[in-house]
Amino acid sequence: MVQELELSVKPLPWHMPIWQRLLSNYQREHLAHALLLNGVPGIGKVQLALAFGQRLLCNTPDNEFACGQCKSCRLFDSGSHPNFFYVKPEEEGKAIVIQQVRALNEFATKKAQFEGYRIILIAPAEAMNLASANALLKTLEEPGSKTLIMLVSHLSGKLLATIKSRCQVVDCAQPTHPQALEWLSVHGHSQDSVESSLVMSEGAPLKALDILGQDLIAIRQKVVADLLSLRRKSESVVEVAARWNKATDFSEILQWLLSVSVDLAKLKVNEVARNTDVVRVLDEVSAGMQVNSCFQFHDQLMVVKRLYLSTANPNKQLLIERLLFDWVDLA
Ligand SMILES: [Zn+2]
Repeated sequence: MVQELELSVKPLPWHMPIWQRLLSNYQREHLAHALLLNGVPGIGKVQLALAFGQRLLCNTPDNEFACGQCKSCRLFDSGSHPNFFYVKPEEEGKAIVIQQVRALNEFATKKAQFEGYRIILIAPAEAMNLASANALLKTLEEPGSKTLIMLVSHLSGKLLATIKSRCQVVDCAQPTHPQALEWLSVHGHSQDSVESSLVMSEGAPLKALDILGQDLIAIRQKVVADLLSLRRKSESVVEVAARWNKATDFSEILQWLLSVSVDLAKLKVNEVARNTDVVRVLDEVSAGMQVNSCFQFHDQLMVVKRLYLSTANPNKQLLIERLLFDWVDLA
């Protein structure tokens, strides 16, 4: 998953237009009391919310950004600003529970410790279960004066309509490819790895940075090489499945394979593949397949993905073996 960024007083560069709009609303005292920052994961929405919260709390902001130096900024950076309340799941992937929202409600109703704004951040908002979402409604409706509630959402379709209707929706754009490349290039990775990481992250730069940091590109290249050795019968399904089972998160592998399966079909009809770093291996694989089999592989992946995500405690090894036995049998 996306790593927490170092705190910065600035949003990521591609969010500057939104930043300027929000700041101008604030300066004209037209800021909505609840904002829903909406967009795909891994593009810096939390960063935007944190930087904006810090800007509103800063004692001595320059015109545009928080100063990063004052007492308020230092408290904010250390995560202990008394006017800032951040609600997130206690563990990644878990729900935001009602006790957390009750604590938030209490924060919103008691007197602020410091003069000025009170900032509440909920991320990701879709992690609230039904009870917590309902518990939030009243505060969202009437948060009290000088209170800003920011909800960050990767999947706003999953939010209750009653939550959404109480917020001003701010659509957070994904960076363009050149913007993402430029931002990633300062982190010291090769141009080729940066390009691959952006394909793997579907253009989300923070996710791409995570991929680069965890060396997932190499793991994925091995997974693709395994597809070829299975077709050539130079390795057994059980061996490969055991390796994949240990390699990394299986939903990650499924995502890569889905992307690869589309490329296999493209290569069959002489179109350009997206996964350029593994295109030679994919060429070899697709040469030994019929075009229908590429689609069949894609369908099988979708079935396994559904099974994997819908089962409380899936047997990963068996699912991978099932997928790979089908793969070996494809015409
Ligand atoms: Zn400051």
